[in-house]
Amino acid sequence: MKQTDKDIEISTMLVDWYKENQRDLPWRQTTDPYKIWISEIILQQTRVVQGLDYYYRFIDRFPTVDALAAASEEEVLKYWQGLGYYSRARNLHASAQYIMLHCGGIFPSSYETILSLKGIGEYTAAAIASFAWNMPYPVVDGNVYRVFSRLFALDTPIDTGKGKKEFYELANMLINPSNASMHNQAVMDFGALVCTPQAPYCISCPFQHKCLAFAGGNVLDYPVKQHKTKSRNRYFNYFHIEWNDRTFLSRRDKSDIWKGLYEFPLIETGQSVNFTELSSLPDFKAIFGFQTPLDIMLVLNEKKHVLSHQVIYANFYKVRISNKDSALDKFIEINSSELDNYAISRLTHIYFDKLAEDRKSTRLN
Ligand code: SF4
Repeated sequence: MKQTDKDIEISTMLVDWYKENQRDLPWRQTTDPYKIWISEIILQQTRVVQGLDYYYRFIDRFPTVDALAAASEEEVLKYWQGLGYYSRARNLHASAQYIMLHCGGIFPSSYETILSLKGIGEYTAAAIASFAWNMPYPVVDGNVYRVFSRLFALDTPIDTGKGKKEFYELANMLINPSNASMHNQAVMDFGALVCTPQAPYCISCPFQHKCLAFAGGNVLDYPVKQHKTKSRNRYFNYFHIEWNDRTFLSRRDKSDIWKGLYEFPLIETGQSVNFTELSSLPDFKAIFGFQTPLDIMLVLNEKKHVLSHQVIYANFYKVRISNKDSALDKFIEINSSELDNYAISRLTHIYFDKLAEDRKSTRLN
């Protein structure tokens, strides 16, 4: 379909708005596809403000595809630590190695090849192709769904095949082929800064007189979703065991959350349990053998940690033992001072923050 005058007008207005209001972000100042790729994957899991620090640290350590490919997976995960969705870090690493091996170390400039890289979907491929080479591929992310569903009062559910197709066609129609990079960035920034999810700034919005959802007074009804995401509760009980200056870890290797990360010995229960219930479980004996922990303290109690499809309720116990039972042999024994070298989940980070906070307040008192 051919672009209409109205489509051109919308794209022009978006780009004009962007020129005045764009966010000053490091990945917007570059056409290096590698840096754009890294920024896009980081931003899939965190907000821009938090993502900036990760981006700088990541690019500082792995400034090129080559550097990323040459690193160990362990180190890449360490730099990803706290961002969650660790499979994305593993995919970055695998794709960097693929580029070194099959693309002569040069980031591919064809949309199809970019799309074929591990962990790159249509959205990321369109972002890289348009930001780096101004190719006319529309990005269709949460911002795009929100802005366009409201502007056009489009109520096809965005989590259906039909919805995805309709929004893609609309975005494709609206994109300005000669200024694809700026058009795509404009929609994303406009969605993030003006047409926000819960409290859009309709009063000062340049599209107010064109926006059908605003005219209908039901802006917050868009975008429409067919299914609400179901989430399951999980109950984790962690043991930070101290034996002299040693502690114990294991590596998550099942296809589950946090694959590849390290964690303290864990007992997952089907429901919330107190320590008496926990210590009577066979799993408890499997960690501590027949010795009773001499000194045990509950540092974090039912800490709620929300992931995309699950909610973790975590207890963190700090345990001091004076003798090591052979039951602990199945764990990785390390010096406590080396804990920093291991990639851990954001949840375990929160535990360490709490420990540091407790130590500080003990000192102050
Ligand atoms: Fe979004 Fe409100 Fe502007 Fe419509 S008027 S595009 S809902 S900010």
